[in-house]
Amino acid sequence: MARRTKIYEGKAKILYEGPEPGTIVQYFKDDATAFNAEKKALIEGKGVLNNRICEFFMNGLNEIGVPTHFIKRLNMREQLVKSCEIVPLEVIVRNWAAGSFTKRLGIAEGTRLPRPIVEYCYKDDSLGDPLVTEEHIAAFGWASQQEMDDILSMALRVNDFMSGLMLAVGIRLVDFKIEFGRIFDDEFPRLVIADEISPDSCRLWDIKTGEKLDKDVFRHDLGNLNSAYTEVAQRLGVMPKNTSVVQKPTLVND
Ligand code: UDP
Repeated sequence: MARRTKIYEGKAKILYEGPEPGTIVQYFKDDATAFNAEKKALIEGKGVLNNRICEFFMNGLNEIGVPTHFIKRLNMREQLVKSCEIVPLEVIVRNWAAGSFTKRLGIAEGTRLPRPIVEYCYKDDSLGDPLVTEEHIAAFGWASQQEMDDILSMALRVNDFMSGLMLAVGIRLVDFKIEFGRIFDDEFPRLVIADEISPDSCRLWDIKTGEKLDKDVFRHDLGNLNSAYTEVAQRLGVMPKNTSVVQKPTLVND
């Protein structure tokens, strides 16, 4: 097989040049990182689960008219996406207080917020992705005013869509992070949801038990991350029951 050109390798994914101009192959690794990569581990099967769960969310968003970069899943670990220019912001939507928000504002974890709260962080690992305001975004030209209007309305649509999907399978969407990209059609930039949407970038709590089914399981050593993600995938119906995402060697001659 011809070697592919690697464009970029991040903490959880590798991007390769796609088969056609304007396309990229997004490969999901098993690496888990937290606290700005201070904590690292290999969680066998995580990439396979995230690829499937991400496909499910992105397909649904495309279906309801929220454009995403997603084209199709290629195999267990890879999906074909449209190449885009990433807006250097992490857009966080919060429905319940958790994580850094609880510390910053002194609000107890699990407090229902009066309405969804959207926050922006500047994407820069060396600075620890600092929280920024629309003033910073406008002053430094990270996104135009029109783009910020679109980002806000798209982020809220993603929130409603994902909250409903999760509620239907007994899971609370506490918060999540998404990223946006620009695609240039006829020179005009068009915003799409880019990167990934998976339990790596969401907080998901079982509604009945409060059990955490997201990356906090890894961040705070709460149990087996693979089992938590498998639970999400199975409830969403994207991974049939009794399917192992961990490929074990099989004995040829016994
Ligand atoms: N998040 C993420 N990538 C980041 C930072 C946050 O995917 O670099 C997600 C995180 O999983 C959570 C939401 O964004 O679902 C809000 O995270 P928070 O600001 O509370 O940060 P944390 O406490 O996770 O550091």
